Amino acid sequence: MKKIDKISRIIKGEEVNTIASTFWRHFYNFENDVKLLLDALISFQKKYKWDFVKINTRASYHIEGWGCFYDYFKNSKPKRLTYPIKKVSDWKKINPLKLSEPVLQEHLKLAEIIKGEFKDEVPVIFTIFLPIEIAARICGNRFLFKQYLNDYPEYIERALENIIVTFSQFAKEIIKRGIDGIFLATKCAEQNYLSEEEFRKWHINYDKKFLDVIDLKDKILILHVCGKEIRLNEMLDYEVKILHWDSTDSSNPALEEIYNKAISKVIMGGISNKQMQELSVKANLINIENIMLKKRWILSAECVLEPPFNEELLTVISGML
Ligand SMILES: [Zn+2]
Repeated sequence: MKKIDKISRIIKGEEVNTIASTFWRHFYNFENDVKLLLDALISFQKKYKWDFVKINTRASYHIEGWGCFYDYFKNSKPKRLTYPIKKVSDWKKINPLKLSEPVLQEHLKLAEIIKGEFKDEVPVIFTIFLPIEIAARICGNRFLFKQYLNDYPEYIERALENIIVTFSQFAKEIIKRGIDGIFLATKCAEQNYLSEEEFRKWHINYDKKFLDVIDLKDKILILHVCGKEIRLNEMLDYEVKILHWDSTDSSNPALEEIYNKAISKVIMGGISNKQMQELSVKANLINIENIMLKKRWILSAECVLEPPFNEELLTVISGML
């Protein structure tokens, strides 16, 4: 069975013969050079044959057009070099970006080439952060961003609207290049970050607006809620096909809880980086076996794979697909 058919069956809630799984990682030292990144992403997929490809670009592609730059030259987490919001009036500079913006063009090209490589065999998913996550990153400091939200809401409203204009156009262009879906990610949904009211106003409202504007309900939309003590239960009605979060952290909802609540959605996750790094392959496989849901489940790590990578375990999982 083609992987594209396998994922489509899982989304329909049908049983498939083998487990489904995907993992992704950063290639920091290649992320500033699309040609090198392309080769790395394609080789990673060819090596493990995951059930879908999550194109893991440099996270800063979302914000470079607004003047945020990072140093990617070392093979570790990039360091921020500049950011545009030094004072409140700087938010006025956050206008819609044109698709001709070089960083967006570069990533459209990346999407097109990777999809061209896997054609109709393997679903290819592109990452776009949710609007509030992009705004927080433009600001450069999440806690300062929260102060802006409270003290100067009109500036942030305008910025979020312009982020939605930019990335809804970008999302549509990505889909025109054959991409099968979008990985919508946020790190702003931890309970200790926004109050319930702030979460509804700034997170949910703008997410739903973004989902309405992109209007890609028939595509493979994946909601990734990053972090601990996340408000995933408040996001179960999002019109996405797949939910992904760190179900291994005891402060977050367990896999089975969401599996039972969100009966029209696929759940993704199951193992943590810590487990992968510290436990034997056998112990990891026992953990996976203990989950073994027959339907609506894709095995994955809690989030992006963190080094050191357990290549032996990845190879064993890849052999089970
Ligand atoms: Zn994450």
